[in-house]
Amino acid sequence: MEGALSILPYGVVDIHVHIQPWEQLKPAVRARMESRPDHAELARLIHDPAAVLARMDRAGVERIGVINYVSPDLMGFTPEVNEIAARFAAAAPDRLIAFGSVHPRYAGDPGAEVERLRGLGIRALKVHPPHQLFAANAYLDGLPGLAQVYETAQRLGMPVMIHTGTSVFPGARNRFADPMAADDVAIDFPDLPLILAHAGRPLYMDTCVFLARRHPNVHLDVSGIPPRRLLAYLPRLPDIADKVLWGTDWPDPGVPGLAENLADFLALDLPPEVQRKILRDNALRLFP
Ligand SMILES: [Zn+2]
Repeated sequence: MEGALSILPYGVVDIHVHIQPWEQLKPAVRARMESRPDHAELARLIHDPAAVLARMDRAGVERIGVINYVSPDLMGFTPEVNEIAARFAAAAPDRLIAFGSVHPRYAGDPGAEVERLRGLGIRALKVHPPHQLFAANAYLDGLPGLAQVYETAQRLGMPVMIHTGTSVFPGARNRFADPMAADDVAIDFPDLPLILAHAGRPLYMDTCVFLARRHPNVHLDVSGIPPRRLLAYLPRLPDIADKVLWGTDWPDPGVPGLAENLADFLALDLPPEVQRKILRDNALRLFP
């Protein structure tokens, strides 16, 4: 599936792509990634930005968010993923938007660590409650370092993406999947741009739509939702078109590809101006 570039008069931003050091994965998680027939090739991508840029060109994708996060106990990702993501994105900083992470239980001074990441070239942070084993508002409840992460990101103008919705990776704790915890974050850090990843799929989509309508700083990404079923999951999508960002979650085992997902999205009955906001304009406001 190629040629979206020739359909659309503008480049697409896919804000949610996982180019990660898969070699760090713990065995049980690795087995899930290895269910993809192309897993060996995928594992090399974090070391080969040119190959990723070529895939983006073929799909008509101008920029991607390169999602990485620290989850040493559950996934196996060490704090070194930040250096790895920054090095990867440095190959084309105008097209590769590096997302890193500071896990407040594994950082001595979380605020200083956020500053250090910004210096490396990390442009945004990922918080993954079911894989990092704390709620997005855990700073209210025994994890003060998380407030330092948000405060510093707000001051430095770094958007924060929060995973919302369930995860089926081995060991993921879905009591942290409920996006309502992000309501506190949106209130306590009103100038911090938030992106609720996956719009709460599949159990919490109404909550995410509520939060996006309530808070000026809350956005949703539609990654991980099969695009053909997007309007069944999010019937009010056109009403919140200014708050929604395109994303695929590729190469999660359920996601076919950058171009395939994009083609399915373009086949939906949505006005061209709504498509363009979601595919490009909203993301460029957050990442000029
Ligand atoms: Zn993801």
